[in-house]
Amino acid sequence: MNVNGKTNVLGLLGDPVEHTMSPLIHNTLSDSLGMNNIYIPLQTKADGLEAAVKGAYALNILGLNVTVPHKYHVMQYLSELDDGAKAIGAVNTLVRTETGYKGYNTDMMGLSRELDSYHIQLEGRQVIILGAGGAAKAVAYLCMYRRAGRIYILNRTVDKAEKLAEDMNGFFGRDTITAMSLSDYRNLPKERYIVFQATSIGLQPDADKVIIEDTDFYSLVETGIDLIYNPFETRFMKLCRESGASAYNGLKMLLYQGVIAYELWNHIQVPEDIADQVYRKLKKKTRKNIVLIGFMGSGKTTIGKALQETLQYQFLDTDTYIEEQTGQTIANIFAEKGEAYFRNLETKVLTDLQETVSHTIISTGGGMPLREENAELLSMLGEVIYLNIDAGEVRKRLAEDTDRPLLQSKNREEKVRDMLAYRAPFYRRCSDLVIDVAGKSVKDITDEIQHVMK
Ligand code: NDP
Repeated sequence: MNVNGKTNVLGLLGDPVEHTMSPLIHNTLSDSLGMNNIYIPLQTKADGLEAAVKGAYALNILGLNVTVPHKYHVMQYLSELDDGAKAIGAVNTLVRTETGYKGYNTDMMGLSRELDSYHIQLEGRQVIILGAGGAAKAVAYLCMYRRAGRIYILNRTVDKAEKLAEDMNGFFGRDTITAMSLSDYRNLPKERYIVFQATSIGLQPDADKVIIEDTDFYSLVETGIDLIYNPFETRFMKLCRESGASAYNGLKMLLYQGVIAYELWNHIQVPEDIADQVYRKLKKKTRKNIVLIGFMGSGKTTIGKALQETLQYQFLDTDTYIEEQTGQTIANIFAEKGEAYFRNLETKVLTDLQETVSHTIISTGGGMPLREENAELLSMLGEVIYLNIDAGEVRKRLAEDTDRPLLQSKNREEKVRDMLAYRAPFYRRCSDLVIDVAGKSVKDITDEIQHVMK
């Protein structure tokens, strides 16, 4: 990024702003599109909001995002409001005009584009919205705008659901929304629904929680969309999938609310391949997986389990995963079906994991990075760390191990040296970080990984 006299400034007003993903979205867009913009977080206290909006205008700031707790209060300082933002009663994007900033709600537009990307149509469909907070308002507006059939809003505080139903029915002039108490879900007509999970239940670190536990409820779900994206697969999504429904998280909503804001600020259309580049970065960043690669004996399992304990993550070993899925040992798969068959299984595992795991240490089979498509899948899965080991150390560590199918050779040492020399460039190609493990304790290595990951 080359900041100069012509650089446009974009930013985020909110409090707190430390954990925002918005700079990643917008600065990646500027880099990829070659636009001379810079996006920065601007922590703003409630009592300084008016001064911040006026000051930003005076400073020629091109555009702003607005987040918690200012999405409602900021509206009084704007020169104009988009219709959607007016109906929803919340603004997350300010676009510079000649008379001041105009407010938009790109959360709602972002969700709309997410649904398009998954080919989910709302027109004439029966919908359930769980929650009646700020995000649920955007969902309700979109469902009304897209002419969903019947819409049920279920909320713990039923008054809030009733108010939202009344506002939206009034705004659109149709009596489409019914408000219900969350605990009344058993009274819903027995149909198949598109269900939006718009409460804050299930967010990391409470990833084991879900707004409705009862599996009977999930038999009503045809498509579940959780607005939460951290964890990547929420418990709500798991329960939907277990009952045979399709399920999606809210990461694309986050992506597209940013993309649409960027389009409004710059009067451009962001090409889909560039939006996809940003999505991959977001996915990698939010999932927080650590993928360990390297030669057999490099310590992927030992280091992985030690990291699991310190970081309080899950641990997944791809070889164990394959053995559990197939009911066969790796040695048996090699002996009965051959190496090519095993490599296909590895690619399938990596593909399956793309839509599920987060906050997980993934220890991989030593040959996994050799396939071109696996390298790509590994790098999308998380931060890839290559545990680099030399042939002498491998010989020492595996002296007693006679089970490894690929090391069945008379001259084992030479075989290890040849394999290492061949594989090292593949390991390096897909790694974000290389750690030399020889002579280091498990603690040295886990400390080094944690230090760099910070
Ligand atoms: P709000 O605080 O405005 O609303 C929270 C909602 O969750 C309310 O309906 C509230 O019910 C319900 N809720 C909270 N705690 C409980 C509980 N213990 N039991 C039952 N219900 C509960 O939050 P938002 O609407 O702004 O956000 C909701 C979710 O959507 C968040 O998880 C957020 O991360 C996500 N989101 C995702 C976006 C994306 O880009 N993907 C964008 C915006 C939000 P009650 O009214 O009874 O308190």
